[in-house]
Amino acid sequence: MRASELLAPTLRETPAEAEIVSHQLLLRGGFIRKAAAGIYTYLPLGRRVLAKIEQIIREEMDRAGGQEVVLPIIQPAELWQESGRWEVYGEEMFRLQDRHRRQFCLGPTHEEIITALVRSEVTSYKQLPLLLYQIQNKYRDERRPRFGLLRGREFIMKDLYSFDLDQKGLNQSYQKMYQAYSNVFRRCGLDFRPVQADSGAIGGNYSHEFMALATAGEALLVYCRECDYAANVEIAVAKALPMIATENPAPLKEVATPGQKTVAEICTFLEVTPDRLIKTLFYEADGQLIAALVRGDRELNEVKLQNHLGCRHLLLADPERVRKATGAPVGFVGPVGLQGIPLYADLEIPYLVNGVAGANREGYHLVNVNPGRDFNPTAVVDIRQVEAGEPCPQCGAPLAQARGIEVGQVFQLGTKYSSALGANYTDARGQEHPILMGCYGIGVSRTMAAIVEQCHDDQGIIWPLSVAPYQVVIIPASLKDDGQRQVAEGLYRELAAAGVEVVYDDRDERAGLKFVEADLIGYPLRITVGKRTITSGTVDVKWRSRKEETPLPLEGLSAQIQ
Ligand code: ATP
Ligand code: MG
Ligand code: MG
Ligand code: MG
Repeated sequence: MRASELLAPTLRETPAEAEIVSHQLLLRGGFIRKAAAGIYTYLPLGRRVLAKIEQIIREEMDRAGGQEVVLPIIQPAELWQESGRWEVYGEEMFRLQDRHRRQFCLGPTHEEIITALVRSEVTSYKQLPLLLYQIQNKYRDERRPRFGLLRGREFIMKDLYSFDLDQKGLNQSYQKMYQAYSNVFRRCGLDFRPVQADSGAIGGNYSHEFMALATAGEALLVYCRECDYAANVEIAVAKALPMIATENPAPLKEVATPGQKTVAEICTFLEVTPDRLIKTLFYEADGQLIAALVRGDRELNEVKLQNHLGCRHLLLADPERVRKATGAPVGFVGPVGLQGIPLYADLEIPYLVNGVAGANREGYHLVNVNPGRDFNPTAVVDIRQVEAGEPCPQCGAPLAQARGIEVGQVFQLGTKYSSALGANYTDARGQEHPILMGCYGIGVSRTMAAIVEQCHDDQGIIWPLSVAPYQVVIIPASLKDDGQRQVAEGLYRELAAAGVEVVYDDRDERAGLKFVEADLIGYPLRITVGKRTITSGTVDVKWRSRKEETPLPLEGLSAQIQ
């Protein structure tokens, strides 16, 4: 691309309306322009970044088995009435009427539309599982659209919906998406943490939010620098209801029985100092001894213990070790285990089948534990504040605090929409069941802003190579110098022909201004053709993310860059 032909109108001044860095730099760099509050136009550079992010998402969704579709933006009210959300969605929904006075909305999300599609196209168990996704505009009449692309009223989202036969399948789909999301955000160059979503998750639903760490974020998190633990500052805490021991617990197979009983022995066994031990966590029930691990979090462990005592079987997460120790199918391996969410949270997950219970130590586990059968999984949830400095429940290191931008969310819906809309499948025996669903969203435009929040300096944006609008900019120090112009031109052609995304700044402007703009726009690699190119055959190569500029021989440069 020749800069003389590129529509990239940069701004010298910071627009007054822009409060946060990403909004300022995306406006100044000529990536976006505002059309109305929370509604933006993407200029060529902005469009290219979006396309890069979308492509990464597409690759990861496809790799996880997703199939891309395009769903309508305009959705009929009837479907939303069927699901019961027409009334409850409230003012965030843009509503409109056609000339026949039929009611519609601009899709804020697509559960209704996709469930209706699957209801009519899927009838047999043979057609499942199914992962369908789209990348498209969403419309939400946000109360306070702000921060540029971070909270728009028209924004771009990738939304995937999973359809499964049973809870086990849903767990697998969820796990696939959790992994795919981690891949997407890593490839976008983001520093992010998945956290268990708040109490909205109660009632059988299960959810994680992917948070990009940034001061502009609206969410407050604690996270561990030593391991992968992260949580909202306000986390949902399971408070055990009085547990009713299940009537006929199936006999549990014991892998091992810890025999320690004194505090000292317990501490040795748990490998903790006595002050970390809240209560004696070995106890006897029905002649069985069961162990639990304490991480110094009094309240959580009280809860654990309560559950423990009430239900007799406490679940503990350390999937890798558990798997190694027991070889059992570990129902809670997955997001819960990966994230180290304390296992009491699992008590509200009714899908654990043949899980593992026991101590966080090799060999001390019970296999084939089933909620409902072996304990009552009911729990109510309170909100608790976690503070920075508290020990990480996973590894004990002091927790750090950060703000986060919700760039994505994964959600187990269960049968909420399939039941409401009648999306059923027939099993091999001819019986009908509602399909199990999950939904998984990524804010594509919000991710673009989140990247800028994390990747910039005083001069401008520093795009990670994977999402940069162009990878390379070539700047001739003096266009008037025929030699320089020819070399720059030649290098440009060579790189472009080799498939490198390159901008050649051929504008009749001062080189100083070009450097400033290149820094503002954030091309990852800058190549300057100057006097020395002519005299000694070198060009000056500089990474946007680094300070130093390196002279490199022009000869062979193009091959090196590809
Ligand atoms: P928020 O809590 O920020 O309002 P949400 O939880 O309502 O977001 P979801 O319904 O989970 O959003 O949508 C999936 C993803 O879409 C979000 O994780 C976010 O990245 C993105 N998103 C949601 N609302 C907006 C918006 N107004 N502008 C830009 N992106 C958005
Ligand atoms: Mg919202
Ligand atoms: Mg949210
Ligand atoms: Mg959300």
